[in-house]
Amino acid sequence: VKVAVVKESAPGERRVALVPETVPRLVQAGLQVLVERGAGDGAWFPDSAYADAGATIVSTEDLYRDADVVLTVTRPDDSAIGRLRAGQAVIGMLAPLVDPQFARVLAERGVTAISLDGLPRTLSRAQGMDALTSQANVAGYKAALVAAEEYGRFFPLLITAAGTARPAKLLVLGTGVAGLQAIGTARRLGAQVSGYDVRPASKGEVESLGATFLELASAVSAVGEGGYARELTAEERDAQQAELAAHIARQDVIITTAQVPGRRPPLLVTADAVAAMSPGSVIVDMGSSPLGGNVAGSEPGRTVVTSNGVTIIGAENLAASVPTASSNAYSRNISALLLHLVGGSADDPASRTLAVDTTDEIQAGVIVAHGGELVHPAVAKLLD
Ligand code: NAD
Repeated sequence: VKVAVVKESAPGERRVALVPETVPRLVQAGLQVLVERGAGDGAWFPDSAYADAGATIVSTEDLYRDADVVLTVTRPDDSAIGRLRAGQAVIGMLAPLVDPQFARVLAERGVTAISLDGLPRTLSRAQGMDALTSQANVAGYKAALVAAEEYGRFFPLLITAAGTARPAKLLVLGTGVAGLQAIGTARRLGAQVSGYDVRPASKGEVESLGATFLELASAVSAVGEGGYARELTAEERDAQQAELAAHIARQDVIITTAQVPGRRPPLLVTADAVAAMSPGSVIVDMGSSPLGGNVAGSEPGRTVVTSNGVTIIGAENLAASVPTASSNAYSRNISALLLHLVGGSADDPASRTLAVDTTDEIQAGVIVAHGGELVHPAVAKLLD
């Protein structure tokens, strides 16, 4: 089977689906690797490194003509979709639950669409394929750095001849993968860190990083399906927002990461809470989305300063801004999934074709479209 690595085209997207280090593993497994010219440039992987690792550098035309499986980070753009042909497969973070219409287009073109965001994350044998975790980890790290850069004071306690600086007070709202990495990074920079989440399991995780867990009197346990958070009821949300506001007013820096699968990200920091913060405070909203984010007034991809001097950063796709680390991790995830999907044996390269089998729990999660049909029930349901 010929697998092909595309050059990502989304604005600001600097990641690449496969890094040179992973190429020999695929070649030894009997796969052939094609790489679109310049695919790794944004993440500092030159074409020569791919060629040395055993890949063939190809033009865009040759890539879509020859590839059996196209590897991407984010979903292909319109021009790429136009080039895909029936029988070809595409593997990436295709976000079919966010845009099921897009999944339908791929199905209608006869493309086998495989999306890493559907992976059953609690399966231990799928952990090496978990791109949502690896990318959230990178993004959480970067969120702490972005906050530190925007903040007009020091994060750590500093005692110098010119005076003493107190440490920044930083609160992370939503302590899943990204939130925990933001906590760890902010702690390493010396901030005084606390964290909060609606999943009770996260208290121990926050404390194990040396941070304080924020206990709310109104706290409810909101664990939903698959270990994720569920959406709060209107009453629970109002109580949470009101109680959080008092804590938020005492913070210098807030990082929010809260997500609920298939829903608009919950609003955690209201306009009143922002208005009560001191000038010079910084908020990084990782929940920022076109539907609205975790913070009132945040705008995706933009930094806004409120009339009371609070900087709100609508952080989008932070993983792409640490492209080498995020590509390294993604490359391991996507190659592990790819090797899980191909049948046959390494001794017989001709046998190495995609063996679609949706009775397999991993495949059932990731395969969105196959043989001209939308085969993923959750995606198909959205289009009913
Ligand atoms: P996510 O990106 O879906 O959400 C980020 C965080 O926001 C979560 O911790 C969630 O609980 C929190 N949140 C949602 N609504 C909130 C609200 N109203 N107030 C405060 N916080 C809110 O989550 P994620 O980081 O992708 O993963 C969440 C959890 O799923 C993990 O921490 C873990 O427990 C579980 N998980 C398990 C595995 C595994 O078993 N291998 C892998 C990945 C994730």
